[in-house]
Amino acid sequence: MTSRSMQAEVGASLDLARASYREISLYAPDRSPCAIDLSDNTNLFGVPPAALATLRSAAESTITRYPTLYAGSLKAALARYAGVEPNEVVTGCGSDDVLDSAIRAFAEPGEIVAMPEPSFAMIPIFARMNALKPVAVPLLPSYDIDADAMLATGARVIYICSPNNPTGTEASADAVRRILREARGLVILDEAYAEFAGAGYIAEAPRHEHLLVVRTLSKAFGLAGLRIGYACGATGLVATVEKSRGPYKVSALAERAAVAALEADRAWVTAHIVEAVQNRDRFAAELRGVGLAPLPSTANFVLVPIPDAAAIGAAMRKAGVAVRPMSGLTGIGDALRISIGPWVLMSGALDALRAARA
Ligand code: PMP
Repeated sequence: MTSRSMQAEVGASLDLARASYREISLYAPDRSPCAIDLSDNTNLFGVPPAALATLRSAAESTITRYPTLYAGSLKAALARYAGVEPNEVVTGCGSDDVLDSAIRAFAEPGEIVAMPEPSFAMIPIFARMNALKPVAVPLLPSYDIDADAMLATGARVIYICSPNNPTGTEASADAVRRILREARGLVILDEAYAEFAGAGYIAEAPRHEHLLVVRTLSKAFGLAGLRIGYACGATGLVATVEKSRGPYKVSALAERAAVAALEADRAWVTAHIVEAVQNRDRFAAELRGVGLAPLPSTANFVLVPIPDAAAIGAAMRKAGVAVRPMSGLTGIGDALRISIGPWVLMSGALDALRAARA
């Protein structure tokens, strides 16, 4: 097929799509391989050992047969971890899947999903994919969420991320509780990075009428490739997300490895959380030492405002260090988001950053 006829074909199929899909572009950050990859906030300390052993010794039937419909054994293990009941947990193919399904289940087409700005870039995309209207509400100068402005949108779904990607900062308890008291619809609290902050709302989620706390095994647990996310909330809420998400979304292999990690790798996970937090604070101090002002992060990454972030990021990538450059963030400007891993990687990042700024 010539490139012209391919273009005509794409144009024709676009016309068949929902009108709102024309504004959606594929999420496609630069993921080309790089010697040191600090671009996606995953766990850079390796694979939890019991999870790895489970994957290596999988029975053939785990591959040839369908997985369980709704990941019952994973729900039981997650419930023990989170301090809730198994019927207060819903799982998915990454927390992306859980977020997408929850947004779809709790708002009618045309209704509003409110999210902070800047925050997790997929949320406005999930809103549009589900025929909903994303309304971005800038963070306050303190980096707290603007609870009044979020409530004033009249949203059916309010999304909060704490610690927030990409700032690494937290929503204050006052703001979260105010939204929980006054919101008309569902409140989603995305705690993808909560293990690094040491606290969160997960255990209390089922006691709230309209709170869904979403978490993932992609970050602290080092299992991003297995795609396991989950949410905790009142039984009725999680059952609704389950309908929206559908059956068979967690693969059999992933379910087994995740259960092994939750049951047998907790000490490994905790030790690497401690190391990541120490390295984050040391890395932030080094950045301040060269005149930069990273935002106060409680996650496993830091956001560093820096002019011309795209050019600096490109120069670092050439030197073998991938970070995530961001341009024109609301209230912040250009910045680099840098994941935290073993110190040898962080010192490589510091060298590449110094050279890129020289
Ligand atoms: N929420 C936030 C805040 C994230 O940063 C990410 C991943 N970048 C996700 C959810 C999705 O993670 P996963 O689908 O791997 O669980």
